Formats: sequence, structure tokens, C-alpha cells
Amino acid sequence: MSGHNGKVLERSKTKGCDATAVVQRGPVGLMPSTKIQDHHLDRLAMVYVRQSSPQQVLENRESRERQYALADLAAGLGWPADRVIVIDEDQGLSGKFSENRNGFQRLLTEVTMDHVGLVLGLELSRLARSCKDWHHLVEVCAVFDTLLYDQDGIYDANDSNDRLLLGMKGAMSEFELITLRNRLQRGRENKAQRGEWFAAVPIGYLKLPTGEVVLEPDEQARAVVQLIFDKFQELGTARGVCRYLIHHNIRLGFRCHKGPKRGQLEWRRPQPARIVWILRHPIYAGVYGYPLHQEGRKHPGTGRSENGILWLPPEQMRAFLPDRLPAYISWEQCQANRQRLQQNRSQLGSRGTPRRGEALLAGLATCGNCNGSLRPVYPEKKTPHYTCDRHLRELREQTCYGLKGAGLDALVSQQVLRALEPAALELSLRAVQDVEGERRQLHRQWKQRLERVRYESER
Ligand SMILES: [Zn+2]
Repeated sequence: MSGHNGKVLERSKTKGCDATAVVQRGPVGLMPSTKIQDHHLDRLAMVYVRQSSPQQVLENRESRERQYALADLAAGLGWPADRVIVIDEDQGLSGKFSENRNGFQRLLTEVTMDHVGLVLGLELSRLARSCKDWHHLVEVCAVFDTLLYDQDGIYDANDSNDRLLLGMKGAMSEFELITLRNRLQRGRENKAQRGEWFAAVPIGYLKLPTGEVVLEPDEQARAVVQLIFDKFQELGTARGVCRYLIHHNIRLGFRCHKGPKRGQLEWRRPQPARIVWILRHPIYAGVYGYPLHQEGRKHPGTGRSENGILWLPPEQMRAFLPDRLPAYISWEQCQANRQRLQQNRSQLGSRGTPRRGEALLAGLATCGNCNGSLRPVYPEKKTPHYTCDRHLRELREQTCYGLKGAGLDALVSQQVLRALEPAALELSLRAVQDVEGERRQLHRQWKQRLERVRYESER
């Protein structure tokens, strides 16, 4: 035993800590402490502390304390206290990927800069819960002659036996993770088949502590959801509904899922994407579906979703249970809404929505040649001109033609007015009724808000 290691053991003994015991108990080699050389002691000892979820950080205090005790252990092995560094930036981050874990990256950087003599962790292979990260760490530790320490002993990545052990530990850790994840996934699928698995419920519903899903108990929050469906029937676009809500200062009632306000109602300004989400979600028709959507096409480089999520049609859901939940609208209505939203998209084969410009037949007139919809254009900002350029985009031989909008619009509006004439009186009455109905609805909203404010001020 070198003089240096003798000193290490002596120091450990005087401190009375169990560092000596741990070092001597290590299963790797007869005298694991001989692996620690002067050039290791000249560099840093880095302790890596990690718990994978905020829940664990809170509950698993003992494990955290054991991890911090590793710093004392490093001192026991001979590192001066000022050269022992604890990295605990990753508290509450899962080890699945290293990209968003600054602590792990920092550890790798320090090792590759030849600053580290020893890396310590309770279960080292859990530092990096993907085999790729783990092997990368072991490899750089081999290149820069850095030792690794876990609760079972000290490893030298350049020693063939140690390397074998390290590789196996990484593989076991990954196997454990995948088994766990698959088990969770199977449990979730089973629950979903029975219609009982909910990650979170959308606005207008409430998940009770028993797991049961009921209608939102707050009357005003329920009324806003109903209003969204009614207005979509009338206006036909999600953006239009959103604009209406914002114009009348109507907010959506969200239940907070986490934080100190968990379970409380919070009123937020509507966003178009949220309105679309509500209009597409089958839960509002009382249907339980799983899975509801899948991730869109992935970018080959980054692996991230390029076009958000794709809502699945019922036939592609693994669980589809109608009449499972309380409903706001009928399933037929929900399907019609989905269809309408699809038609509103500005893409080939969709009608699109009326946009700026005075053309009456945007999205309604079709090309006689290719059956695509005619697009209104306004040459020099004058009267509209309906055109089809599909032959150019698809390189077809047969050319499509457009036509002037003025004559066509005049003809169509004449026909429409003539068709409506006999029912003119009835239509006017309907319009008056609609306006009154809307006024009543808004009045109810404002009354509920007023009551809420009064109640809160009294409290
Ligand atoms: Zn055409």
C-alpha cells in the first residue's frame, strides 16, 4: 500500500466515519483504494445528486441526505474539502434524456476538461438512465482517467473487469426503466379500456378525488362552455367564437391542476387554440376515447413533433365508449363540429373560411375542370376574380380557367334574395329573436360575474 493510501485510511479512522469500511468492503478488487492515485487526488471529486421527480425530492429526504453524505465520503478518501463539488441542479428532472439536464452536462464537461479525479453517486448508472448517456460518461472517464464511485465500490473505467461491470450496470438500469415504463403503460391501457383513465379533464368537467369525472359544479363556467358550442353553430369558426368571447369580456373557468391553488377555479382569457381543443374534444359529447390524439410527423433531426398533434377519428381509438360521461352536446353535433373545423382549414380540398375581400363565393364556387375550389383574387385591388391554379401546382396538361367575380356574385345574390323573399317576414322575426336571445345570454353571464364578485367581496 502506498504511503498516500495509508494516509487516507489513517484519516478515515481518526474521523471515525464509515468511509474506511466502505472502501474495504468494496467488491471490486481486493484493495479498491489502491485505485486512487495522486493524480486523482490532485483533481476534483464530483458528487452527483439526483432524484427524478419533485414528488421524490419531497418524500425521499433520506436518500437525498445519503447522497449529500457522499461529499464527506470523498473527504474521507483523501480529497480536501475545497476540491469536493456537489452537483444538484437536476433535482426533479427525469434521467431519460440528458439534453435538458444541465447538471449532467456540467459533469461531462468537467470530466472532459480533465478537472475531475472521481465521480460519486449513490447508484451511478442512474445518473444517466439511457445507455447512450451512461456509456458516453464511462468512455470519457476512461479517456481522462477519472474514477467512478457508487455504493458498491470504486471503478476504474480502464480496468477490463470494472469496465464489464459498469457496462452491465448501465444495461440493467435501462432494462429496469423500460420494464417500469411498460408496466405503467399496460396499467394505463387496462384502465382506459374500462374508461377510467384520465390524465386531466378539460374545462367544464371536474375530476373528483375518487377518480370519477363529473360536470363542472360552477354554473358560470358551465355556461361559458355551452356558449362556445352555441356560438360555433352560429359563427362557424373557432376564431370567430374567440373574438366574440374577448369582445364581450367572457373568460373561461379553468381548474388549477397543481400548485397552491390546486382545485380552485381560475378565469382566463380565451385563446383560439383552446376553443379548437374544446370543439374537437369528444368528452363534451359524453364520449370516452383513448387515445384521443397522436403526435404529428417527427422531424428526422430533432425528433420533435413538426405539426403538433393529430386528433384521431373514433375508429382509430383503442377505447371508444359513448355515453360514458355527462355531455354538453350530442355525438352527431361533435362530429359535425370536427367536420366544420376540418373544412375551415386553408388547404387543398378544404373550403376555408370567408376572409377579407368582398367576394361572396370564397370556398363555395368550384372549378368545373378539376373540381377544386376557386380562390378569389383581387387584381389591382379592384373587383374580385375567381381563379384556379391547380394545373400549375400539379403540373397538369389541361389548363383551368377563372372567371370575373362581379357578374357571378350579382347573379348568386339575386337568386338567394329571390329564394328568401317569401319567408322575409319570418326571417326578420327570427333575427330579432336571435338578437334578444343573445342579449339574455350575455346578461346572464354578467349577472353571474356580478354575483361572484359580490360574494368574494363579502367574504
Ligand atoms: Zn381547376
